[in-house]
Amino acid sequence: MSDKLLKIEDLVVQYITDDGIVEAVNGLNITVDRGKTLGLVGETGAGKTTTALSIMRLIPHPPGKIISGGIELDGMDLLALNEQRLEKIRGDVVSMIFQDPMTALNPVITVGDQIAEAIMIHQKVGQAQASQKAREMLEIVGIPGNRSNEYPHQFSGGMKQRVVIAIALSCNPKLLIADEPTTALDVTIQAQVLELMKSLKVKFQMGMVLITHDLGVVAEVCDDVAIMYAGRIVEQGTLEEVFTEVKHPYTEGLFNSIPNIDDRKEKLKPIRGLMSDPYNLPKGCSFCDRCDYAMPVCETEKPPKIYFSDTHFVECHLYRDQQDFKLKGGMK
Ligand code: SF4
Repeated sequence: MSDKLLKIEDLVVQYITDDGIVEAVNGLNITVDRGKTLGLVGETGAGKTTTALSIMRLIPHPPGKIISGGIELDGMDLLALNEQRLEKIRGDVVSMIFQDPMTALNPVITVGDQIAEAIMIHQKVGQAQASQKAREMLEIVGIPGNRSNEYPHQFSGGMKQRVVIAIALSCNPKLLIADEPTTALDVTIQAQVLELMKSLKVKFQMGMVLITHDLGVVAEVCDDVAIMYAGRIVEQGTLEEVFTEVKHPYTEGLFNSIPNIDDRKEKLKPIRGLMSDPYNLPKGCSFCDRCDYAMPVCETEKPPKIYFSDTHFVECHLYRDQQDFKLKGGMK
């Protein structure tokens, strides 16, 4: 069995609207190893959620469309599967946790029945057995099983997100996609939910894609990090590589935007400007308008992919002439 649980190659996803074509994902390549967590980091509009929905094959069509590329999950070519097969895979092989637990749960069905429903869809068990498993799942996420007959409004935000996690894990998926799972929660509850996700990842031995804009969350939970900007991965590496040997100017900007608790007089350094118009991406580097290191070549040529190790690469013209680094793949 391959170590690679998820392999996305050259994925291009567009939204075709009355105002033009939005290039949401623009030649994306990522891999997730079995049992590992990849942090997918970037600001709003970078294409993170579109990537997640592409893996789930839930891109709303129209206006969205996977134009080209490949997505392989646990050896299956996801883009070749029909809807019937995809329904079996969703929730069973791959599950997703959405940002807002308030809207992810059905308000008129008890939490126990919502978990049991997910179990009955994918496993050949009756109502009684599914309800028993639902209670067990509640216990696993830290909610007493005897609360399974309660409705979502009887739970706090953090508890609701625990219920959503219980639903997502109820069929023991191989890959969990968590899209900003703690953003809608209070800070103290965020830490609890992150701890829970970390322990469940080990318990269920699953791979995870954690979508976030928060590098603190990444440092807590992830093994590998992919920095996404304007639909592409601009830097990727192990957690240690990206956190200790920052290469891409955008990654540097993300780190500079984090407040320094030891130096409260130091001013925050936000990344200036806004992300490129997705209807009209620049010819060269998409970060060019905001980059302090921009050179004339950045305006006209797509940056090459430069590898610093087998796991750490960056897409940036800054490193193209450095002999120490291998230039692989060119401009994809
Ligand atoms: Fe900055 Fe040029 Fe690198 Fe883009 S390619 S990040 S503009 S230096």
